[in-house]
Amino acid sequence: MTSMSRAAHTRATVYGYPRQGPDRELKKAVEGYWKGRVSADALRATAAGLRRTTWQQLADAGLDEVPTGDFSYYDHVLDTTVMLGAIPTRHREAVAADPLAGYFAMARGTQDVAPLEMTKWFDTNYHCMVPELGPDTVFAADSARQVAELREALALGLAARPVLVGPLTYLLLAKPAPGVAGDFDPLTLLDRVLPVYGEILAALRAAGAEWVQLDEPALVQDRTAAELNAAAHAYRELGARADRPRLLVASYFDRLGEALPVLAKAPVEGLALDFTEGAAANLDALAAVGGLPGKRLVAGVVNGRNIWVDDLQRSLTTLGTLLGLADRVDVSASCSLLHVPLDAAVERDIEPQILRWLAFARQKTTEVVTLARGLAHGTGTITAELAANRADLASRAHSPITRDTAVRARTAAVTEADARRRQPYAERAAAQRARLGLPLLPTTTIGSFPQTGELRTARADLRAGRIGTAGYEERIEAEIREVISFQEKTGLDVLVHGEPERNDMVQYFAEQLTGCLATRHGWVQSYGTRYVRPPILAGDISRPAPMTVRWTTYAQSLTDRPVKGMLTGPVTMLAWSFVRDDQPPAETARQVALALREEVGDLEEAGTSVIQVDEPALRETLPLRAADRAAYLAWATEAFRLTTGGVRPDTQIHTHMCYAEFGDVVQAIDDLDADVISLEAARSPMQVARELAAHGYPREAGPGVYDVHSPRVPGAPETAALLRTGLRAVPAERLWVNPDCGLKTRGWPETRASLENLVAAARAVRAEL
Ligand code: GLN
Ligand code: ZN
Repeated sequence: MTSMSRAAHTRATVYGYPRQGPDRELKKAVEGYWKGRVSADALRATAAGLRRTTWQQLADAGLDEVPTGDFSYYDHVLDTTVMLGAIPTRHREAVAADPLAGYFAMARGTQDVAPLEMTKWFDTNYHCMVPELGPDTVFAADSARQVAELREALALGLAARPVLVGPLTYLLLAKPAPGVAGDFDPLTLLDRVLPVYGEILAALRAAGAEWVQLDEPALVQDRTAAELNAAAHAYRELGARADRPRLLVASYFDRLGEALPVLAKAPVEGLALDFTEGAAANLDALAAVGGLPGKRLVAGVVNGRNIWVDDLQRSLTTLGTLLGLADRVDVSASCSLLHVPLDAAVERDIEPQILRWLAFARQKTTEVVTLARGLAHGTGTITAELAANRADLASRAHSPITRDTAVRARTAAVTEADARRRQPYAERAAAQRARLGLPLLPTTTIGSFPQTGELRTARADLRAGRIGTAGYEERIEAEIREVISFQEKTGLDVLVHGEPERNDMVQYFAEQLTGCLATRHGWVQSYGTRYVRPPILAGDISRPAPMTVRWTTYAQSLTDRPVKGMLTGPVTMLAWSFVRDDQPPAETARQVALALREEVGDLEEAGTSVIQVDEPALRETLPLRAADRAAYLAWATEAFRLTTGGVRPDTQIHTHMCYAEFGDVVQAIDDLDADVISLEAARSPMQVARELAAHGYPREAGPGVYDVHSPRVPGAPETAALLRTGLRAVPAERLWVNPDCGLKTRGWPETRASLENLVAAARAVRAEL
């Protein structure tokens, strides 16, 4: 058989698509439902309409097979929990009474019931809800939603493929439910969950699914022999069922490594692999196992996580190599397109020249279709597309935006000493104590205060020209006055200005840095109904003017207490942006760090005694494979120290991190050499404090005592109890009292109440010392 005859079967597909709709209709409908303004039926109708439009667009673009079940009101891992009937005990009553309201209660909590924990979906900026399992967990198939969505797509006359989170990934993402021993291993539930998956697969087949995709990104991480055996076992069991559809096991975000031979041998009909640059090792590994004879290979060649146009010729070469390695090769993006914005074509503010370098979900879909056509019918059928692509790539490579000689000279001149504080921590701590005069257990917040409707209106008014800069700045100053006076009244010790001028902690800086692009509609889901517009770090980065000094000094002029300067760190700037792929990220990080270092210097000069450089994303961009981590942490911590290394000993450098288990980055946290770190800790009570203590972390720390991801107001006694737990790990001289994260997504009433309780708790515990 020639490769051409195999290629003729080539299909174009994707694993998932942005959920929000062109105008973020989903966010509006869900939030309207929460506020009681949108009925459950209206929400369902909006969602169904969005799904239909998406499928239709995908089919119109030329996809041969559309995904179903990738849609979600909040999160697809939470949907999997519902599908498997693994509702935590504390939520069962609510879910039984009203499944939709109960679903959102699991996601967000209520005044009485805590939500599920949230964690990073691998190394992306998408957050999922952590399954809570225990030895008593009983799974029960609930395939209704998956079946209904499949039927919706089939009714449109489309070839549709349901996409589910696979059993290994589901269990490996899970944690022991509250009250279950911490060493409980959810993977021990595999034999209990497999029949439930089997039932769901059968239901999908009965509803008309020819193929079902099981996503197993957990298999691109380092896995133990036992976990790999579990994977082999799982797919042997599922594969053996006679009533099932064909199975496509999908992996993405990295190379499969040791899991590749396991899946290659499994009795499933197809594998989907990531073949983008970071996972290039998959190609050789696939050849090494002798390819996938008799199987369908879905080749993720178009990067599903960045926004750069694909190098079509390079992808075609990869695809050509793959043709010899499987029975049938299909083309896809490397992962769900959930992680990129919807459509670059609607961006009006980006120069047309630069716009040609960009591909969002819609453009990537077209690239996938083009590649599939080229593969199936020969490159002669896509000559025009290839020529246009070559021109776009050349325009980017030769643009002055991507090469600024002044910036290049500055990064080249950086020395090891630039990235070090001049004094050891002990000396700095003494100097800072003398300058700041704070009480034991000082209270502070992480930076942002509620982003009220008025603030968003002010920004919209400014953009639309309804108010001028002066009018806008007056509104921001009024907000700062309110935030400062509230904090003084409440008795917080280190104040913040509240970040009212910031639309987003990364975008705000990106908009002021040369070399960054902002999008107008480039929304990407971060968690639930929270969407962000990641900037695009497209060129060499520099800071033409101070970015935050004006607001920090204004806030400081209103109070005698120290006001923290507030910056977003270089690693987070990269993590929450789309980063250029034409130079190593370390180089881009160094450029950003030097720009921020100038800002730190200007803040210090203006009299700021405490400067916080947020790095919430340090942990999340940690490479999935341990072998790749040291290199990442080396450049990441260097970039932070380059940002902060130039300050005086009595300037206190804070940093902040959240959304993570910190166990594997405690050394890196130490290497940042920040004077104070605040961390998320309320949802997994003070675990991070114990981890820091076990490491012998020598500096000050504020494990968060208020979970800002939930509207719930913790009482003072509850907060005090958390503090006492924290004190068992961190001595009073080094323990700070703060929420888990910024308050921008909270409303004022709960913020007020929670911070009053937080200060009361700190005072109560101080009195016990
Ligand atoms: N300073 C930022 C804020 O308070 C930190 C946000 C974050 O860690 N995600 O909003
Ligand atoms: Zn945070």
